Amino acid sequence: MAAPQKNVLLTVIAVVALLGAGFMFFRGGGRASDAPDRIQLHGLCMSCKTESTTTVRFGTREPLPCPSCKADALYQWQFCPDCQKRFIPQLERQVAGEPMRVVIPIRCPVCGGSNVTVFMPGMYDASDIKGDHPLPKWEP
Ligand SMILES: [Zn+2]
Ligand SMILES: [Zn+2]
Repeated sequence: MAAPQKNVLLTVIAVVALLGAGFMFFRGGGRASDAPDRIQLHGLCMSCKTESTTTVRFGTREPLPCPSCKADALYQWQFCPDCQKRFIPQLERQVAGEPMRVVIPIRCPVCGGSNVTVFMPGMYDASDIKGDHPLPKWEP
């Protein structure tokens, strides 16, 4: 076999291998037993002040049920990269008789920045986290 043809053949093999890897990846992420409609969230219970990681159905509105005290009072931690601090967003009662909801859009309560992300343990180095901002007003 001449050298140029060999190179083409190697390229084809490489592409097929990549496609195979991609296929395995998608299949691996989509198995029914993994319950892909469920996501993991890390939050703070405003009632008992316990920090928990919990799994909820995708699209569930906060507050989430607290795994510790069972109250519907768990809100997701957010992180402000500018302040390097975690915070629970501002909460307000939008409908009488309903739990307090997160005020959208979520902004850092101290610097007002909108450059914020949902916080999960392990997302940042411990040295990048300077603590937590004060908790918002909570009226169960
Ligand atoms: Zn709780
Ligand atoms: Zn901030």
